[in-house]
Amino acid sequence: MTFIVGLTGGIGSGKSAAAALFAELGAAVVDTDAIAHELTAPGGAAIEPIRSAFGAEVITPNGALDRAAMRRRVFADAQAKARLEAILHPMIRAEADRRSAAARAPYVVLVVPLLVESGGYGSRVQRVAVVDCPEDIQVARVMSRSGLSAEEARAIMAAQVGREQRLAAADDVIDNGGELAGLRRQVDALHRHYLEMAAVS
Ligand code: ADP
Repeated sequence: MTFIVGLTGGIGSGKSAAAALFAELGAAVVDTDAIAHELTAPGGAAIEPIRSAFGAEVITPNGALDRAAMRRRVFADAQAKARLEAILHPMIRAEADRRSAAARAPYVVLVVPLLVESGGYGSRVQRVAVVDCPEDIQVARVMSRSGLSAEEARAIMAAQVGREQRLAAADDVIDNGGELAGLRRQVDALHRHYLEMAAVS
């Protein structure tokens, strides 16, 4: 069986940076955000089910999900949000399963931003690694990466589980409150650990 490490963390904590370092070392990285984008790109498998559920007004002329229109629909409508997630989440999980099973690497790093929030992944991962940093650093990184305001960054963070709850779900904590060199050292050490665990799994 493929050994799968679930990698999670709040927005801007450094999940993508950590995943890139694991990939450099030879792990297979399966990214659920990337899968979600592919499913909702022009010709993506989620487009027709979304069109049936929400109408053509949430699809752009070139056949992608119109994210801004969809955000407006689900913003004040919890039922619409649940309906969208009922379409997308099973498709994302199925594709993540396919990619994990097809991976030709000693182990898989499955990046799931909302791993702690969403359930559904507990049975899929043998290990949970949480990328952690102080919230002020998260805000600063999100602002410099995406140009969002501090308020927008904090609003996204407020919709995610808090730091303590995420840490409580961790088997391994990656402290990304410092320099990238420190992140690299921790990923190197975990990689060796995961290779050993994968060899006996
Ligand atoms: P996530 O995937 O968790 O949202 P990213 O890996 O994209 O977070 O990191 C957010 C931003 O912070 C990116 O621009 C990234 O390059 C930067 N970053 C990540 N870790 C560090 C670090 N240790 N020092 C400086 N910048 C970092």
